[in-house]
Amino acid sequence: MITATCPECKHLINLISLPEIGKLFICESCDTKLEVTWLFPVILDYQEYEKQLASDEDENLK
Ligand SMILES: [Zn+2]
Repeated sequence: MITATCPECKHLINLISLPEIGKLFICESCDTKLEVTWLFPVILDYQEYEKQLASDEDENLK
């Protein structure tokens, strides 16, 4: 299992598989929108506003 830590609440987020840089997540603990900014290890950082808009299509696929 791949895990990453939420920068907001330090919640440990389980990732089913290795994400791509730029992949968007929402922390299940604090609902902060997060983006993968690095791999090995996986680092999550806050989404930028422009990328939130671009992520609307991704959220519709869930
Ligand atoms: Zn969080």
